[in-house]
Amino acid sequence: MVKERQIIHMDQDAFFVSVEIRKNSNLIGKPVIIGGGGDRGVVASCSYEARKYGVHSAMPGRTAKLLCPGAIFLKGDMEEYSKASHEITEIIADKVPLFEKASIDEHYIDMTGMDRFFGCMKFASELRQTIIREMGLPISFGLSINKTVAKIATNESKPDGELQVTYPELRPFLDPLAIHKIPGIGHATYKKLSEMGVREILTLTQIPQQLMFKILGQQGLSLWQKANGIDLSPVVPYRERKSIGTQATFESDTMDMAKLKAIITGMVTGLTFQLRNQKKLTACITVTVRYTNFETVTQQERIPYTSLDSFLISKAHNLFEKLYSKRMLLRLVGVKLSHLVSGYEQIGLYNIAEEEYSLYQAMDKVRNHYGAEAVVKACIVTQPPRDEKGKVIKYNPRKKKVLIGNTEEGEPKEDLEVRKRSKIRSFMSEKGTRGTKSYD
Ligand SMILES: [Mg+2]
Repeated sequence: MVKERQIIHMDQDAFFVSVEIRKNSNLIGKPVIIGGGGDRGVVASCSYEARKYGVHSAMPGRTAKLLCPGAIFLKGDMEEYSKASHEITEIIADKVPLFEKASIDEHYIDMTGMDRFFGCMKFASELRQTIIREMGLPISFGLSINKTVAKIATNESKPDGELQVTYPELRPFLDPLAIHKIPGIGHATYKKLSEMGVREILTLTQIPQQLMFKILGQQGLSLWQKANGIDLSPVVPYRERKSIGTQATFESDTMDMAKLKAIITGMVTGLTFQLRNQKKLTACITVTVRYTNFETVTQQERIPYTSLDSFLISKAHNLFEKLYSKRMLLRLVGVKLSHLVSGYEQIGLYNIAEEEYSLYQAMDKVRNHYGAEAVVKACIVTQPPRDEKGKVIKYNPRKKKVLIGNTEEGEPKEDLEVRKRSKIRSFMSEKGTRGTKSYD
């Protein structure tokens, strides 16, 4: 028999709100909503007291206001939340050999094999107390045989709780739970299943696998497995966290600032599109330039977790201006986004109006359908390539050849798909460019 794993899932309770309460204890016990202020904002996070009124994240602020008129709306401070997030990760990194940062406030820890030396439950409980003591923020955890059950256990123990589900306890724990407790079940899937009378996990486990596949395809199979407590996905070590990046080498070196900035804008837009597609946020941006004499300089900056174009474009331009100190031709520029975690909750925190967020969603939809180049920022196309007589050469992205770097083995398929679709449109020179993309 395969050895049983010991997986801990740790999740901060109402993370953004808890950071606010740490600053201002008057907020304790009140319905607090982060983001969603003004007329068109979106809720980024809310306290348990606000949740009782039906408020949840990603809901339009005005709906939240109708549901919970007494709520206290706060603008939120992504910089502070990101800082707290990094500090929590450091505490965990200090104590365990193998962990994964799953989102801004969630970590998985693989304790398999360690139970001989410490009891896993005792260890996790002590780690939780350390985080509470050092951070002053509430956190809950679940301990079980895989990531899915550990996460469900965390959610059941919240707020301020801890729960172990051992292998023999698996069925009695999962069976009576509502199916929407299974992580990753979407609204549409939930509706479909509950209309079929499937409301409890027990009922879901009794449906034959083939039927689930027939109804919901691959997702149906995955749901069936989760309902049966099967999840073989590994805890992916933090040091292997991914980054996405792109760089372009010009065939003729250039020092045309407007053109270079437009290229960087195009690169960032392509990367943020990939980020949002993968439901990821970045906390670090790196810009690289290579001068004509091959001198290469790089600068990076830690940033609050985000996936928004406007913020990242201005950061990339700032870094580029800082880097480009010599009046010398450039042969390469590159942009990389790293420290990626899952999440999308920050929407409400950048004074982004609902319309602007909807615009991002609509653009991403078009790009997913017609390719990454279907919608681009106007500044990228202000300088179209011209022939020797100065006449604009008609640009057809489908005919443009963009070389894509070698793919690494073991890379998830969907990344390749996104990458294929996201060849960044570039206007480096009339002769074309050599573009490469890389992941690590
Ligand atoms: Mg949380």
